[in-house]
Amino acid sequence: MADALSPGATLYRPYGSVYPSLALPFNHRYAGIRPAGIVACATTEDVSEAIRWARAVGLPAVPRSGLGHNYAGYSTTTGLLLNMARMKSIVSTPMPGRAHPRVYGPMKVVHDAGTVTVGAGVTNGDLHPLLEDHGMFVPTGRCPSVGVAGLVLGGGIGFSDKMFGLTCDRLVATTVVLADGRAVKASKDTHPDLFWACRGGAGNNFGVNTSFTFQYEQFEGTVGFYQLRWSLDSVLPVIAAAQHIAQDTVGDRRFHLRLGIGTNGMTRTQIHANANVNAIGQYYGTVQELRAILDPLLKIGTTEERARNSASVRQVTPGEASVLLSATTPIDRFATKSAILDSRTLLTDQQVGAAAERLLDWPGSNNEDGAGFAMFALGGEINQVPPNATAFVHRNDLFVFAAETSWADYDLPDVAEANLHWLKQFYDDIFPGKSPEHAYQNFPDPTLKNWREAYYGRNYPRLVNVKRKYDPTGFFNYPQAIGTR
Ligand SMILES: Cc1cc2nc3c(=O)[nH]c(=O)nc-3n(C[C@H](O)[C@H](O)[C@H](O)COP(=O)(O)OP(=O)(O)OC[C@H]3O[C@@H](n4cnc5c(N)ncnc54)[C@H](O)[C@@H]3O)c2cc1C
Repeated sequence: MADALSPGATLYRPYGSVYPSLALPFNHRYAGIRPAGIVACATTEDVSEAIRWARAVGLPAVPRSGLGHNYAGYSTTTGLLLNMARMKSIVSTPMPGRAHPRVYGPMKVVHDAGTVTVGAGVTNGDLHPLLEDHGMFVPTGRCPSVGVAGLVLGGGIGFSDKMFGLTCDRLVATTVVLADGRAVKASKDTHPDLFWACRGGAGNNFGVNTSFTFQYEQFEGTVGFYQLRWSLDSVLPVIAAAQHIAQDTVGDRRFHLRLGIGTNGMTRTQIHANANVNAIGQYYGTVQELRAILDPLLKIGTTEERARNSASVRQVTPGEASVLLSATTPIDRFATKSAILDSRTLLTDQQVGAAAERLLDWPGSNNEDGAGFAMFALGGEINQVPPNATAFVHRNDLFVFAAETSWADYDLPDVAEANLHWLKQFYDDIFPGKSPEHAYQNFPDPTLKNWREAYYGRNYPRLVNVKRKYDPTGFFNYPQAIGTR
């Protein structure tokens, strides 16, 4: 196969010096799953060659973009790993004719200013400089090293999604290499069923996407930013007030919120001292309007907390906001259990109290990311899209909820075990009796039994039809892959 690859591509075998770093996934929990070989692809043709070759020799082929952030290790394989990181092209095309400007307080947004086509190896962090340098914006997620590929294929939530839609809502076309090695373009006009599935149907189900074309916005001006934090003593009033705000602003495209509780440390003293409740986000409007929305939250806490929280509310450039809103997890080991919450399943004081109590009981680890939960507010443009218009079904909801825990490579095995056990208890305490119906497909939980319904709801049967048509033998496969039946 090596001879058939383009000059920019490389085949790595297990005995080489580069192999170990390329084989390692971002979540080291799955570091033991080692590929038979790795192709660093440079072109769509390389991907076609690699897939044809893998099929011919009877090996599975699995793509990895970014650093392999999949929570469940689904971008690992014992077969052929297709590393997409070299496909880094970013080409923008302004479309002045279609653009329509609007003013949101101190911010002028030119909607649909043009399109940008990115290679499958492009990460969130590769796109952020477009904003800082040229005012061009595509909604992505929080973590700079997450690949745009995995993000968009599973939906893509972030701090501008209520305003501009999910990352997948901005997609206008994608090139996909199918299981027989053919490359096709999927858009609303060509292979519309495949295009539908590529917007929320999750990665590695229908083919290997080698490029994505997004509509971008052009920004000029400033946005409101806030970052609030309290000790865990305030957890009940903060979560209650923030959920109210999220409900009141569900139709307000301008307001974005991520809410959470968390802690970190190794000893009981550290875990108690670091336990906190927090909120972060941005607003496309004036700081006065933002303060009015946040008012119930700004009144909570000690004098010191109120002063610090109030001072955090300020006007910044979109580029500064993007940096302030960015965050990542240390490259170590982590696990998550997610849920989609709507107005009927918002957390009660009892659920929040149980979560806070269990947080203080966290077994600890050497990963500074620690443990806790995060809630990403939904609404606005996301909920304007019908649940069956794309494969992303979660369209009438209020929050994506994620309970998480993390530990370090050098923690002892019993620390890993205690963390996984704790995560299950934490989730069960918050949702006693019955888990919420839905979960986020980009936060996959390998222990989730009803994942078909949870990730895809009523869209699952249609995803099966697309799978049958484009990958009838189920070549692209993993434990929670869309089935052919
Ligand atoms: C620290 C961290 C922060 C995160 N923050 C956010 C956030 O803010 N918002 C959000 O929505 N999500 C977030 N996520 C979840 C993230 O969207 C998913 O983990 C996503 O799948 C990662 O994509 P990737 O390409 O980096 O990962 P990978 O592990 O490379 O890929 C994920 C899946 O897609 C497949 N895949 C990869 N590339 C391709 C391709 N080119 N064609 C077809 N299939 C492909 C893989 O085989 C795998 O099954 C976060 C995850 C982490 C670990």
